[in-house]
Amino acid sequence: MNENIYSQIKEIKKYALENKIPIMVDQSIDFLTKFVVDHQVKSVLEIGTAIGYSAIMMALSSPDIKITTIERDQERYMEAIKNVKKTNLEDRITLIFNDALDAEVDDTFDLIFLDAAKGQNIHFFEKFEKNLKENGFIITDNMNFHGLIHQEEEMLSKNLRGLVRKIKAYEDFLKNNDDYEVKFIEIGDGISVAYKK
Ligand code: SAM
Repeated sequence: MNENIYSQIKEIKKYALENKIPIMVDQSIDFLTKFVVDHQVKSVLEIGTAIGYSAIMMALSSPDIKITTIERDQERYMEAIKNVKKTNLEDRITLIFNDALDAEVDDTFDLIFLDAAKGQNIHFFEKFEKNLKENGFIITDNMNFHGLIHQEEEMLSKNLRGLVRKIKAYEDFLKNNDDYEVKFIEIGDGISVAYKK
């Protein structure tokens, strides 16, 4: 990574921290960028852009990878546009401003990366699997939901309990899905990798 890009990435991470924007933790971004290189991923559909950090990191990991990414929060989307421009990746990162559940995407992708509303993962999976190429992957971040997945339910607020149940339901949904081989990886906040058989 050259000096200029390195300082842009540092700035993006600083902005995320200062503005409480949840971006991937270092361990998970390292996993994801290594994964796209190792599996020769050329096209990614990301659900949940935030300010563009993970999309930019994937694009930087390989010169011939293209990413389409969807964000529903306008302020974050505008910030992502700025960041993609600053890192000169406009030709490889397409930003869509919409609720992913309302967005129409026609292309197919080697990898679909789910990193948006954690309670909606089954809906995202079911909506976008038509956009997955044969032998493609669906990766999901925050399967441990900041460790709360292992917490006693009584310790959680009603809202959190509902979310945790949805994440557990998504885990079961993946385990019982015969079309995919699924691995759960205990790094960062927990990552699942579903490989389309
Ligand atoms: N992938 C980003 C990164 O690591 O740089 C972080 C994404 S952040 C964890 C989740 C983002 O998903 C938030 O910015 C949120 O506004 C967005 N989001 C949540 N639900 C969404 C939906 N239904 N459609 C589009 N974006 C959504």
